[in-house]
Amino acid sequence: MPVPLAPYPTPPVPFTAPNGTQGQLVCSGCRNLLLYPVGATSVCCAVCNAVTAVPPPGTEMAQLICGGCHTLLMYIRGATSVQCSCCHTINLALEANQVAHVNCGNCQMLLMYQYGARSVKCAVCNFVTSVGASPSSEQKFTN
Ligand SMILES: [Zn+2]
Ligand SMILES: [Zn+2]
Ligand SMILES: [Zn+2]
Repeated sequence: MPVPLAPYPTPPVPFTAPNGTQGQLVCSGCRNLLLYPVGATSVCCAVCNAVTAVPPPGTEMAQLICGGCHTLLMYIRGATSVQCSCCHTINLALEANQVAHVNCGNCQMLLMYQYGARSVKCAVCNFVTSVGASPSSEQKFTN
């Protein structure tokens, strides 16, 4: 009876990101925004090589901008205050401080802005994109 060949050991868990989703976190070293595939446990920053631990899956992260130094901070959603690791300002984690995203109206770059802002200026092309369209917009669409 020949012994069956077992050429390749089966990998225990195939490393696939469901839906191709990516997570975001802020580098603990240089404060750059990093993207990582869902399932990663740590991210090595390409800029400063600092390794930042990824919060466990299921942890809902929120973002806010530090009132002291305007650094983008990440915190676990539900927290009431966040201390900035740069300037040690304690920021209240209110909805009003949170960060929203919009695509630049000109170059489609993903921009972040402080929730409640009327417009956001693209750092790449300097195009000003209006956000939070008000229902009583002065723009009239003729049809
Ligand atoms: Zn970094
Ligand atoms: Zn700060
Ligand atoms: Zn742009």
